[in-house]
Amino acid sequence: MSVEAFLRDLPQVTAQTEPAIVKRKSRDFYWYSPALKARLHGLAAQAVVMPRTTADVLAIAHAARRHGVALTVRGGGTGNYGQAVPLEQGVIVDMTDMNHLLKVENGVARVQAGANMLALDRELRQQGLEIRMFPSTKRTASVGGFYCGGSGGIGSIRWGGLNNPGNLLGGQLVTLAEQPVVEELRGQDAFCLLHAYGTTGIVTELDIPVEPAIDWQDMVLGFADFAAAAAFGRLLALQPGIDRKLVSVVEAGLVPYFPHMPDVVPPGHAIVIAMVAPAAVTVVEELARLHNGSPCYRAATHEAEDNPTQMPLYELTWNHTTLQVLKKDKSFTYLQCLHPVHETLASVATMAGLLGDEVMFHLEFMNIGGQITCSGLPVIRFTTQERLDEIIALFRAHGVNVANPHVYTLEEGSPHQKIPPALLEAKKRNDPLGLLNPGKMRSFVPTRHGVQA
Ligand SMILES: Cc1cc2nc3c(=O)[nH]c(=O)nc-3n(C[C@H](O)[C@H](O)[C@H](O)COP(=O)(O)OP(=O)(O)OC[C@H]3O[C@@H](n4cnc5c(N)ncnc54)[C@H](O)[C@@H]3O)c2cc1C
Repeated sequence: MSVEAFLRDLPQVTAQTEPAIVKRKSRDFYWYSPALKARLHGLAAQAVVMPRTTADVLAIAHAARRHGVALTVRGGGTGNYGQAVPLEQGVIVDMTDMNHLLKVENGVARVQAGANMLALDRELRQQGLEIRMFPSTKRTASVGGFYCGGSGGIGSIRWGGLNNPGNLLGGQLVTLAEQPVVEELRGQDAFCLLHAYGTTGIVTELDIPVEPAIDWQDMVLGFADFAAAAAFGRLLALQPGIDRKLVSVVEAGLVPYFPHMPDVVPPGHAIVIAMVAPAAVTVVEELARLHNGSPCYRAATHEAEDNPTQMPLYELTWNHTTLQVLKKDKSFTYLQCLHPVHETLASVATMAGLLGDEVMFHLEFMNIGGQITCSGLPVIRFTTQERLDEIIALFRAHGVNVANPHVYTLEEGSPHQKIPPALLEAKKRNDPLGLLNPGKMRSFVPTRHGVQA
């Protein structure tokens, strides 16, 4: 493998070999996990390239094949499982210069994969439209990184997870097949790029659904205890007449870690954080009072997004909750759980009872196959890896699905410990030499010059 020769073949592509920059671009948010911190710390590529066009990406793919150079694609670098950390050096392909909204037609936006999600949403808003679903890292994440490395987030209460049919409509992929090509994928075929950590191709463009823009309102509602907040959160999540984009429940112990919230939330109160349509604000306040809750805070989401001194409330939810805690105390980590659709709140209560003060709960309501349940990203006081493994086993023993965020391979991170067969097939077809993010797809065995290694 010769990175120097690879770069010499690409005079038209911006490249960076300055060690400090390459090191920075070789990291993501893996450090949430003590296990990943120990395993991935210090790993870095040898160079970064920044394509501006699909032709640049195709040239990069040809050069990688020619010189046997490993490529790790990167968007905003906010992944949590070391998805964007190169295990075998090579070159980082930073996609953030490919950031244009190309067209919008019939509710579908064609967008370059490196587009920042907030910038994209702002551009769509000028046409009266918005992104249907985004991660709480909207301000830093790219659309390609979300589809290739994420799972769902704000909007999942309406639209489910990224892997539900209809949430990805097509895409353009550059392969590292024997003769690298630009492939146009439609419908279900495009799902081979979903949550594949960039192992099945370099995504250059995506077709994503958009919807008419709403001036979402951030709301915080306080409740005397977690059970009351969780019950109200579920009630709100189930309301067919209330337009909502986010419903989260946060236990009282987490509130002191949040900026500004201790000033507005009564001490010891659990909270429901919601994003609702303007027409629903009064309805939600009334409903909360009926259930012994009290409105504590309200602001327009987009004003908070546009004001550097403010924070949209979604930055307290999903995996931002863990970040808010880690900013004040590095001794915590987290898990990713999905509580069963039936008896959802009973399942949460059982786990909270079993784990006591060691775990702080927050729930993110979402639509799973037409039914409302909640994902939980409990914040855990870390003691040892053995105890963390015990906690994972305890959740699983009680029927809670856990996607382990303390591992870096696709298989180990999946709740079922395996990847869909279509993903493995796409890998064999599109990257037989295993040059794309090597080491992240454990079940794939690379071939050397067409022969099984
Ligand atoms: C504070 C915090 C909160 C988070 N909240 C959420 C959340 O609400 N929902 C959620 O799903 N995730 C969440 N995440 C995880 C992560 O932020 C999201 O998945 C995010 O969308 C990743 O986007 P990115 O551009 O930063 O991707 P990166 O980290 O740059 O990349 C993610 C993966 O995708 C691959 N990739 C990136 N671009 C391409 C491309 N063009 N072609 C092929 N492969 C590519 C990379 O190789 C990598 O494996 C959170 C993370 C943090 C740190």
